[in-house]
Amino acid sequence: MELFPYPPRPHQADFVRTVERTMLANGHLVVESGTGTGKTVCALTGALQAALATGRKVLYLTRTNSQERQVILEVRRINEKAPVFGVALQGRQGTCPLIRRDKELSAGTPDELSRICQDKRRRVLEGRSGGCRFFKGLQDLDMEGFVDRCRQTLPTAEELIDQCDALNICPHEVMKELAKEARVVAAPYAYFFVPFIRNSLLDWMGCPMEDVLLIIDEAHNLPDYTREIESFQLSRYMLEMVRKETEEFGDPDISKGVGLNDLCEGCSKLLEEALRDYLIDEDGLVPPSFLEEGLMSAFTCTSRSLQAMAKLVMEQGEVIREARFAQGRLPRSYTHSLGAFLSYWFSLDEECYVKLVVGGENPCLKAYCIDPVVTTSALLGCGGSLHMSGTLAPLNEYRDSIGLPMDTALVSFPSPFPKENRRVFYVQDVSTKYEEMQSSPEMVEAMEDHVVQVCNGVRRNTVVFFPSYALMDRFLADGVSRRISRKVHVEERGMAQLELMDVVTQFKRAAPEGQVLFAVMGGRISEGIDFPEEELEVAVVVGIPYPRPTAKQKALMHFYELRFHRGWEYTVKGPAIRKLLQAIGRLIRTERDVGAALVLDRRISQFGDRLDLVPTEHPLQDIQAFFRERGR
Ligand code: SF4
Repeated sequence: MELFPYPPRPHQADFVRTVERTMLANGHLVVESGTGTGKTVCALTGALQAALATGRKVLYLTRTNSQERQVILEVRRINEKAPVFGVALQGRQGTCPLIRRDKELSAGTPDELSRICQDKRRRVLEGRSGGCRFFKGLQDLDMEGFVDRCRQTLPTAEELIDQCDALNICPHEVMKELAKEARVVAAPYAYFFVPFIRNSLLDWMGCPMEDVLLIIDEAHNLPDYTREIESFQLSRYMLEMVRKETEEFGDPDISKGVGLNDLCEGCSKLLEEALRDYLIDEDGLVPPSFLEEGLMSAFTCTSRSLQAMAKLVMEQGEVIREARFAQGRLPRSYTHSLGAFLSYWFSLDEECYVKLVVGGENPCLKAYCIDPVVTTSALLGCGGSLHMSGTLAPLNEYRDSIGLPMDTALVSFPSPFPKENRRVFYVQDVSTKYEEMQSSPEMVEAMEDHVVQVCNGVRRNTVVFFPSYALMDRFLADGVSRRISRKVHVEERGMAQLELMDVVTQFKRAAPEGQVLFAVMGGRISEGIDFPEEELEVAVVVGIPYPRPTAKQKALMHFYELRFHRGWEYTVKGPAIRKLLQAIGRLIRTERDVGAALVLDRRISQFGDRLDLVPTEHPLQDIQAFFRERGR
């Protein structure tokens, strides 16, 4: 505990020692530790003590910039006990002044931006025109002096960007320099889980993988995050853009008598056919050889010649990228994406992927990665790893799904907040079970009545959490917000971050008189916003957020059933309770907080092992009595 910068609270010494011991033994550790346990500082202290003892470095992966900031603030406190240097990294989109000021560039992928940046740096080094002036500015900088000042002040990423802007130098290059010197590097997930970015990062940090002690914060996101980065798709929009590229850059033959446009046309027809024949509700399974056989029959060719065509399409895409790049545009080519898609799709490992057709505004064929281990196996090369979140249980499920070894330590630290400050009620007269809602139209009305009664009867800030936008829309269409006598704010689909924060701020300001906010479970509000004290006192949860039985979901369940014989637990029950706990967890963020939750679904009783539940027939009266009892 020599580096721990605060008087330790219950369980913190244990937390720190467990992390240190595991990292010293090059092991892996999965920790569930709720709000208020001080998990950032405990994890950092334990990992740093191990890193300093063995000459290694700590890489702390976060999902958001505010978590990254928290890491640096804790490093500052630790630095008061012993000199420790830490830096927070962010991608070029957030750091590069050229990209931040250019709308087209700011939509670039890391790969595209890296290419632009590389060229601009090379021009400076070769003394050619068109180089980057912020990179050039670095040539006159006393880098050693700058690094020394950073050692003293330990700036957050935002502070560092401001300082670099003031000096007209590139923050991204400065961050790379600092990473070399730093003992702690905080970075977004992509820095480790996207292989080409990971290789660059290790290079900047100047250490091999086995010298990296990894901390993954909010780790409950990791399985889905890694599945998504390994998945790829071909959409109607992409095919339309390929057609446009043939108009601008030509329509070369990619096989005897087959032009790029013909291939594009063939893919479009097959996409529409898949939508017609396999789509059920929002997605559908596509037979594994559907696309390959369809194209072979359309062009009377073999599977080998299809592979050759895909290669030629990629080559044409590369020509387009170069041409755009030469015009000073983003080096993007949808033709290249088409070639890459076909090439991967034809050679897919069918144990780890399923082939889907997905509906919606921009329908697509999608290769969905069901096994996160395709990406997370890289973790095993580290010198040790800690995976932590407030909602990670069952911990063995997490360990299995990302492929950690069986001897991984699994530990839970209890919440330090008084248990009696939160009460979770549930009613037994309603359920959001699909069949019940279909057979009983009064079911939704009964839930709406509960929501209206609580929102009108308890004059405290209240969030109503829905399992889906569809159910929230139904409540709004039925006029529920008009029946509530307080202002109702709504988290809308696809809201821009600034707009969302505006809604949240208005809602928070309404405390203590209280307003109402409709939000979805699994969304940005239920998973990422803190509402301390009176900013949130009541949560009404409209049903359990079980995943919809889509083809993708069924494929996941089948995969985990085959591999662990726990398909339902790992892919339905586990994710649902984590979302629910995240939502209810918004109520209590400090030891002074008092909050009541009401769950409108009798099926919640099966989660009695995770939540202390109190059945109620009179929710309004019981919630009011709870606040009186707590002296509020
Ligand atoms: S050197 Fe820095 S400022 Fe210049 S293009 Fe690259 S990231 Fe942007």
